[in-house]
Amino acid sequence: SDALDVARIREDFPILEREVNETQLVYLDNAATTQTPEQVVDAICDYYRNYNANVHRGIHQLSQEASVAYEEAHDTVAEFIGASGGREEMVFTKNTTEGENLVAYAWGLNELGPGDEVVLTEMEHHASLVTWQQLGKKTGADVKYIPVDEQGYLDMDAAEEMITDDTKMVSVVHVSNTLGTANPVSELADIAHDHDSYIFVDGAQAVPNRPVDVEEIDADFYAFSGHKMAGPTGIGGLYGKKHILEEMEPYLYGGDMIRKVTYEDATWEDLPWKFEAGTPNIAQGVALAAAVEYLEDIGMERIQRHEEQLAEYAYDRLTEEGDVEIYGPPGDDRGGLVSFNVDSVHAHDLSSIVNDHAVAIRAGDHCTQPLHDKMGVPASARASFYIYNTREEVDKLVEAVDDARQLFAQ
Ligand code: PMP
Repeated sequence: SDALDVARIREDFPILEREVNETQLVYLDNAATTQTPEQVVDAICDYYRNYNANVHRGIHQLSQEASVAYEEAHDTVAEFIGASGGREEMVFTKNTTEGENLVAYAWGLNELGPGDEVVLTEMEHHASLVTWQQLGKKTGADVKYIPVDEQGYLDMDAAEEMITDDTKMVSVVHVSNTLGTANPVSELADIAHDHDSYIFVDGAQAVPNRPVDVEEIDADFYAFSGHKMAGPTGIGGLYGKKHILEEMEPYLYGGDMIRKVTYEDATWEDLPWKFEAGTPNIAQGVALAAAVEYLEDIGMERIQRHEEQLAEYAYDRLTEEGDVEIYGPPGDDRGGLVSFNVDSVHAHDLSSIVNDHAVAIRAGDHCTQPLHDKMGVPASARASFYIYNTREEVDKLVEAVDDARQLFAQ
């Protein structure tokens, strides 16, 4: 069948067996960080147990093995998101946030000035919003926001008007971590390119959950985080078109990113090493490739369908009582998450009571404060799904929410 064999998948995640408050854990905070399968933990252990050494420098056997594994990991990850340039188009970063900052500093600081414009959306994560906002202050470039409508979709007419020949960068979130909206990134790329602007896509909530092809989108830059896609913390990917990365100045200076150094000057290593100064996160990089292989074995189309079905089910069940507001598009048109508020209960109280039931959800502004301001709430609760979640777990969430509702009704 085309459905995921969730029982089989769960065996790869022993953490899901653990108890919280003497009740079996229900982990629904996957948009924040996903759990890590044995295969990925094994890849980390294998590295430290068998070939731990610094990369690129040594000619000794262990260093060669580490270098090959680390370099090939770039190819694996590049291929996973459709980057035909392989490692040359795949910079390993710490996370999505670092990808945004790398481009803002390495490209933006040199290229932007007064009169230039950066176009974001009202649903950007702080990783993109704050980075470009502050870069605007440094360079004098104006920052504009494409509005989000009542239903949680981008106003594409406004986008057409806001993106002009003054626009130098459009930075947009692929799938919103708050609204669950999947944005028309390829259409936005066309509009940006019509005006000779670059487009940066924040794929933190897309790469883990759906097939992504950066070339089909025609993104100039595309960033994501390993810890949201069954990989380890401390590693992420920044895709950039080769000709753009080649023209860009380095972001960090130091060892491993240089070719020739004198007291007076230095030249840079080939891509992507030019952007990976110092000893990188080797174990995490190798393990990210293991995570990619793990997800590919399951199949990204099937993963997407599984999560979206769970989100739709959660949407329907949570709204049964009529006192829950879910932000963003309808249940059948969203990524695998639901952010919501229950009329009578504050999101933080809700997540704390839900935690008593061993259900892990997130409460807060999910790093989209201005969007929450616009929605008129300080915070929301968010349940987000991954490959190992089940409808029964959604039922447990709904029961826990019901408990909170009753407690606060008293
Ligand atoms: N963008 C989006 C859409 C996200 O959901 C997140 C993580 N919440 C980030 C960026 C930042 O990811 P990281 O903290 O791994 O850099």
